[in-house]
Amino acid sequence: MSEETTKRTDVNDLGEFGLIEHLTKDHKLVNPSSIKGIGDDAAVIDNGGLLTVISTDSLVEGIHFDLMYTPLKHLGYKSVVVSLSDICAMNAIPKQVTVSIAISNRFSVEAMDEFYEGVYAACKKYNVDLVGGDTTSSPRGFFINTTAIGQVSKEKVAYRSTAKVGDLLCVTGDLGGAYLGLQILEREKQIYLSSPEVQPDMKGNDYIIGRMLKPEARLDMIKVFEKSNLIPTSMIDISDGLASELFHISKQSGVGVWVEESGVPIKQEVEVQAIDFKIDPITCALSGGEDYELLFTVDPKDIEKVKYMPDIYIMGEIVEASAGVKLHTKGGNVHDIKAQGWKHF
Ligand code: ADP
Ligand code: MG
Repeated sequence: MSEETTKRTDVNDLGEFGLIEHLTKDHKLVNPSSIKGIGDDAAVIDNGGLLTVISTDSLVEGIHFDLMYTPLKHLGYKSVVVSLSDICAMNAIPKQVTVSIAISNRFSVEAMDEFYEGVYAACKKYNVDLVGGDTTSSPRGFFINTTAIGQVSKEKVAYRSTAKVGDLLCVTGDLGGAYLGLQILEREKQIYLSSPEVQPDMKGNDYIIGRMLKPEARLDMIKVFEKSNLIPTSMIDISDGLASELFHISKQSGVGVWVEESGVPIKQEVEVQAIDFKIDPITCALSGGEDYELLFTVDPKDIEKVKYMPDIYIMGEIVEASAGVKLHTKGGNVHDIKAQGWKHF
């Protein structure tokens, strides 16, 4: 894009209230539970007799995202999706979201428009209302906080602490892709920084890069559970890597976990790319992160229900706590799984 075709409006031209008005004026509420959205001191939500679940996430430039390779629209989309994923992990349906931003004078009104395009695309896709937020300035960089609010009945809410010995361990989707997507983006960034004339080489990696830049929350699965009358005995979303989440279930439920390596869903393109980076594919699945899939347990009586659900993989079993958290490899060995999620601080 050239200077002449790209308009740049300084945020100061609009001021804080002008910017809020500009970013939010066309947003229409769609959920009956959203009584009052943007425009008052607080949003008002009516959840009837249902439980309200709330989750909040912060994303910090330079820690959680790099604008060198993250389009602002994707960032807006992902900011909403990561908090919706937490609501889904409670077996709840997300209904509202708030988005707070702190921006430096490096960011123009047009840049924020792009970011909000992503925010609204996610709201539309997941049928959630943007009901508020906060807008402030930062001395340097871009900070984002999203809070998601959802509904679930008392009977259906799924915690991390309620897995039982004998339950089947299941996961949605496939694992390891997002971590490799990040590795590719980082590699191309380093090449660009040392020789800007070299064209980035991302051919054939759309799926993997998409897993990093444009994740989805598995609300589709929550709806499948509902339709099949399946209530997971416990659930958690995989944001820090499978290993780390297995430990959360193990610790909070007071159980051990047995994982079959052959049952861990890893796409072939992920496997190929992992080997290219000289990383064992199972390591990507266990210790990568940002996959935003759901890890859950079900009572063995429900095996017939999960066996035929699309995009769900049974990969292990809940065992006695004394058995620990173990991986049974394809080669027939048993390894201790170590919790080494991504630590961003
Ligand atoms: P207050 O002074 O009470 O914090 P603000 O002037 O910050 O109110 O916000 C006015 C309204 O605009 C509120 O409803 C708030 O939730 C909403 N809002 C502010 N910033 C954003 C944003 N970045 N995205 C969405 N809504 C916002
Ligand atoms: Mg405010």
